[in-house]
Formats: sequence, C-alpha cells, structure tokens
Amino acid sequence: MQALMMPAPLQIAAVLEHAAHWHPRTEIVSRLPEGIIHRYTYAEAAARARQLAHALSALGIKPGERLATLAWNTHRHFELYYGISGLGAVCHTLNPRLFFDQLVFIINHAHDRLLFFDLTFLPLAEKLAPHCPTVEKWVLLAGPEHLPAGSQLPGLCSYETLLAGQPTAFEWPVLDENAAASLCYTSGTTDQPKGVLFSHRSTLLHALSACLPDCFAASATDVILPVVPMFHVNAWGLPYVAPMVGAKLVLPGPGLDGASLFELFEAEKVTFSAGVPTIWLGLLQFMRDGQRQFSTLRRTIVGGAACPPALMAAFENELNVTIRHAWGMTETSPLGTAGTLKAGQDALPKAEQDAILAKQGRVIFGVDMKIVDDTGQALPHDGRAFGDLLVRGPWVVSDYFGAPNPGQLTASGWFATGDVATIDPDGFMQITDRSKDVIKSGGEWISSIELENLAVAHPAVAEAAVIGVASEKWSERPLLLVVLRPGQTVSKAEMLAFFEGKVAKFCIPDAVLFVPELPHTATGKLLKTQLRKDYAGYQW
Ligand code: ADP
Repeated sequence: MQALMMPAPLQIAAVLEHAAHWHPRTEIVSRLPEGIIHRYTYAEAAARARQLAHALSALGIKPGERLATLAWNTHRHFELYYGISGLGAVCHTLNPRLFFDQLVFIINHAHDRLLFFDLTFLPLAEKLAPHCPTVEKWVLLAGPEHLPAGSQLPGLCSYETLLAGQPTAFEWPVLDENAAASLCYTSGTTDQPKGVLFSHRSTLLHALSACLPDCFAASATDVILPVVPMFHVNAWGLPYVAPMVGAKLVLPGPGLDGASLFELFEAEKVTFSAGVPTIWLGLLQFMRDGQRQFSTLRRTIVGGAACPPALMAAFENELNVTIRHAWGMTETSPLGTAGTLKAGQDALPKAEQDAILAKQGRVIFGVDMKIVDDTGQALPHDGRAFGDLLVRGPWVVSDYFGAPNPGQLTASGWFATGDVATIDPDGFMQITDRSKDVIKSGGEWISSIELENLAVAHPAVAEAAVIGVASEKWSERPLLLVVLRPGQTVSKAEMLAFFEGKVAKFCIPDAVLFVPELPHTATGKLLKTQLRKDYAGYQW
C-alpha cells in the first residue's frame, strides 16, 4: 500500500531556499583571493544562485552536464554549488593541488563544459586550456576589472558579468532525487583519480545525518568555518549543513595558515570548524608561539587522516577546544563515523575516555559497516580482531563515474574501503591502516598509523611517517622517517627507545631517518606510495 505522504523529492536547491526564507539575515562571510572580505546574507546568496541558474540556462547548459570549479572556499563557490546542482547540472569540484596531468585527465574524463576558476588559478587555467578541448568557456570568479588583457582562454568572461542583469527570481526545476548533483574525484593516493558522483538524495541525507548531535551537532547558534576545502569531498558537507540549520558560514578563501585562520576565527566569532590534521598542527604551533587563546572556537572535526592523540590533547588542554575525530572517504560522501562518548563512558578514567575518542568513532545513522578476513568472513567486534572494512548505505558509492565494468565495485552489496580496522563491542571503529600501508612482518601485521601517532607524541617531532621496507628475514620491517621541530634535536637511539613499553617489541621500527620534509598528497596526507618508492632499496 502506498503511503499518503507528499512525495517531495530531496533537492539541493531547497536547502538554500530554506535558509533564504527562514534565516534571511544570517551571514556568509568570505575572504576572497582578491584580498578583501565579502559579507552578505543567505537571502542575497540565494538571489545570486538563482541569477546563476538563469545565466547557465542562457548558455544552454542541460541537466546532467558537468561544470567544473577550480576554487577556494568563497561565497561564489557556494553559489556555484547551488546554482549548478539546482538547475540539474553537475558541479564538478577540481582539486587544484593535484598534479597537472591528473587535472587534465579528470577534466577530459568528466567532459566538463564550463570551468569556473579563482584569480589565484589564472596561470593554471591558461596552462590547462590547450589540453582541455571540452571546456567551451572559462569563467573567472571575480569582477570584470580582474580580467587579464590578451588572454587566450576560450570564451573567457567574468562571473560578475555573467550574473549581472539576470533576474533574481527563478523556478528551480523539480528533479529526480537520484539525479547526479556533484562530482568529486578521489585524490589518487593509491591509484588514478576516480570519479564519485553524488546525488541530490545522497547529499541531503548525508548532510542531515552530519547535523546530528554526536556528529557535527550543528545549530543556528553556530558560526561555522570549513577549513576543509570545498574541492575536498564537498567540504565534508558543511556548505549544505550550515544553511540547513541556519548557521553563519565563514569561508576562508586561500588563507589557510595559522595567522590568517586565527584572525578570521576571532573576527567572525567562529564556534565550529573542520579540517585535516596538518592544518591543526600548523595552527597549534601558531597559537603556542604567541601564547594565544580562542575566544569563541569550542569544537572542531578532524578527519581525512588519523588525528594524533597528542594533537587532541593539546587542543583540549592548552586551547580549550574539543577535537572530534571523524573518518570517511570520497566514496562515502565522506562521513562514515564520528567519535563521541556513549552514556556511562564519561565516568571512565580520563585516559580510557581519551583512548576511546582517539579511535575513528561510531557509525552515524545511514552507514552500516563490518570487518572481514581474507575469505570475506565477518570478524568479531571485540576491538582486537582487525580486517578489511566494508561499508554500505545511501551515501556510499555504488560505482565510479564512467567505470569500464559497471556493477562490479559493489556486487557484494558492500563497498570495500581499502582500510583495515577493528570494531569494539561499543561500536567504535579504529583504523589500524590502509591495506596498502600495513607492514607485514613475519606473519604479523604492524600498524603504521599507531607508530606515527606515538612518534609525534615526542616533543621534538613535528611530523612522522612509518613505511614497510623489504627485509630478508621478516619480509618487511618498519622504517621511521621523522621531521624534527625547528631547533630540536634527538638521537636515533633516543627516538627508537621512545617506543619501548608503548607497543609490542616486534612493532618498534628497526631504524629511523631524520628528513627535512615528507611528501604529501593533494589533500594533505602522507604520500606513502612515494616514500615506499624512495626507500625501496634501503639497506638495514
Ligand atoms: P584517497 O582515498 O584518494 O586518499 P580520500 O580523501 O577519499 O582520498 O581518503 C580516504 C581515506 O583517508 C580513508 O580511506 C582512510 O584511509 C583515510 N582516512 C580518512 N579519515 C581518517 C581518519 N580519521 N583516520 C585514519 N584515516 C583516515
């Protein structure tokens, strides 16, 4: 029997219209690449998103066509999220930190018709254009006064000119909620980039669950600053979460260094933020250097890579900011788990609470997960057995965009994340490694993440990586690579002794090398593929 409820499909445009109607005066503040602060309201943002929809219609953009962005977190990027998806086209966010060849590959693979870029990326756009024949029009995300003279970019125009004079009223089309709304390629840490195509439905369900108290706990009283870029899995859903709950949104543009972020946190009274560990490590150093304190920031989500417990402790104890650890990936939109205590756990000794919160967290409603062994058998949730982590749910990928063999990726009904994890009896999941990063030593598995977390707890260490290097006797042994903090020294023996008593003896790295820096991926993670290549011939 059919229910008697309105069959209203879930629509991305409805989120912004909600904010425009019910939180019309709430602000969106952006620091632009042009160097100025831009301030307006949800009502104005919605009016401009509607103008954009008119402009795109006039350019003949059809539902399902891909339009790319090469942009920082700004109000214009926010308008593109809604104007493009609202019209039924696909907002394809490009990660400017990818290698040039990867960007060319992605733009051609997606058949992007238009490309919107920030002033910062003008030189990159000019380099890309000759290799990207599908892009008919390059749109500079600025006023016409910033247009370069004599540029060869096809169809170059300014975003402000595109919008100028367009009506501010627009009837958003009613779309199939399963229609594609946005596209994001994985950062290619382990492989060629692969396109994940999000729907209106997956985006809204993901954002709704993200708002829950044990996840983002987003509210109309919040001021939200996503440090995580809008080109990194839709800034973890925050550009949808903020208008959904009516929170003020602060968009930091290209200024992601400690000083720029701190200034914006304070000036705009930010209460809640989110980003990868590298950002918070940088900010922590800046705060320590000037003995600074935040006046309003109280919580932040850290994910995208394992958050070192030392970072969580420093934020809590020195800065009075709670770090909430979350796990996810492009293929899971990205949120899968978030870490908060369950009833009764707040009575545990502090060290036990900290150990629980250092895990990657519990599933949020909508995501189901399990761990399996090599034969696909489910493993117990005892916090000790570890195996391949599988997930499923309405915002988990079912196939990659343009995959040559559709149907294969999730034929079992589950998506294999490529992560290795444990799940404890309370449901807290802990990533022990990426399956390719696990160090297999004499039949035992050693977690590189655990060793890295321990290494960065040493006061002299700024960053650390552990990789498996071939060993005749053990097949692989862990090699520790350390970047020291400025002005700090520590001997190799002292560094290795630091692990004693903290992990099983066989897990302690066999050697340590001090290096000036470590390579990172486009999303700020350690580039272990590169390290494994660089140290492949290391002689123990
Ligand atoms: P890529 O898969 O190309 O690295 P993603 O940004 O999708 O790009 O990264 C997802 C991966 O990042 C996860 O599969 C996991 O290995 C890692 N990751 C994400 N969050 C965490 C976390 N909190 N702790 C440990 N690893 C994490």
